Amino acid sequence: MTATRSQELFERAAAVTPGGVNSPVRAFHSVGGTPRFMVRGEGPHLWDADGNRYVDLVSSWGPMILGHAHPDVVRAVQEAAVHGLSFGTPTEGEIELAEEIIDRVAPVHQVRLVNSGTEATMSAIRLARGFTGRRKIVKFAGCYHGHVDALLAQAGSGVATLGLPTSPGVTGAQAADTLVLPYNDIEAVRRAFAENEGEIACVITEAAAGNMGAIAPRYNAELKQLCQADGALLIMDEVMTGFRVSRAGWYGLENVGGDLYTFGKVMSGGLPAAAFGGRTDVMSRLAPSGPVYQAGTLSGNPVAVAAGLATLRAATDDVYRTLDANATRLGALFTAALTEADVKHRVQFAGNLVSVFFADEEVTDYAGAQAAETWRFPPFFHALLERGVYAPPSAYEAWFVNAAMTDEDFEVIADALPHAARAAAEATK
Ligand SMILES: *Cc1c(COP(=O)(O)O)cnc(C)c1O
Repeated sequence: MTATRSQELFERAAAVTPGGVNSPVRAFHSVGGTPRFMVRGEGPHLWDADGNRYVDLVSSWGPMILGHAHPDVVRAVQEAAVHGLSFGTPTEGEIELAEEIIDRVAPVHQVRLVNSGTEATMSAIRLARGFTGRRKIVKFAGCYHGHVDALLAQAGSGVATLGLPTSPGVTGAQAADTLVLPYNDIEAVRRAFAENEGEIACVITEAAAGNMGAIAPRYNAELKQLCQADGALLIMDEVMTGFRVSRAGWYGLENVGGDLYTFGKVMSGGLPAAAFGGRTDVMSRLAPSGPVYQAGTLSGNPVAVAAGLATLRAATDDVYRTLDANATRLGALFTAALTEADVKHRVQFAGNLVSVFFADEEVTDYAGAQAAETWRFPPFFHALLERGVYAPPSAYEAWFVNAAMTDEDFEVIADALPHAARAAAEATK
């Protein structure tokens, strides 16, 4: 499998863009080698600039639950585009998308559309502070909530992949009000509330963690109780899990309602769109109905809204059953190949998010994820890539199945995995 054209493009890109990419995790930084420049996606497959085909287990980092270029979504985008790309006025589609989200996630009564998950969490935090009149926020190590200044401390995803404790450019003042606690550690949360009584505006958590690998939450119900008891808001970040792990996201799997929610990825249909929403008494504090300012020139963009709406409408119960079955099937293939090659591993699920940790014990937090033998991951990744399986290029990311995968795709994966498992077994630190 050659990557000559990708290599040329990467060199050109590196001259005009830092690191050659527009988002760090795309750069193959932690796995080495040349990132593949993709030219086309259809169903479960991607094609790169050298003409290689891949079974895609990244799904654009989550959004493409239906597979690439789903006919309903493409048609909706084409029809919307013909009518104009942006008006800077309200449109009916925005109401429909808001209604669809509210219909699916019971604790959400009002939503505001934005352009990225980062914007959603940033705005939700501002709103929580504005609503409560408090400054401090609690986040959990290994959770990623976008590149919001106050939330970059011990963040997951690319921040974890690059091994950064935080980011230069975030001032002490921006981070000073952020308390970072271990994921799944309810005692730490209890202590934080005791030590900062009446000062915490909100706790933000990934409803289920997916940005340090897939880690299911054990403490959501208690988080909610502690927030309620202190008058802090609970922000459930469902940018990754929302409309992916069930019709109602993680809320559909574990009925613990947050005060505010953040969404993105799947509800965007693959175009730039995201949202935050929640209780009406909180949401109504947003401008123009309230004093907390939040705005966006392209927010609720008609083409992005059409893509998101078409995706959600096509995401039927059947699609969710297929996603779950595909995740289970992928997990079983991981287990079989790694067991056969005698590599210590844990295959973990959070709904239909899957990941492999090269570890003996279940990983329940960021320290556990960091303690795993992540150095086994690069050869594992490249053995798959060589054989036409596009995996997330980082040991700290979940794997995203889509509903377009067929038996043939699973055969490609099943054929590639024993090679990858052997490569992981032979890896050295
Ligand atoms: C991806 C992600 C974000 C950030 O979304 P962007 O659209 O990349 O800004 C926030 N929170 C979670 C849980 C995510 O997975």
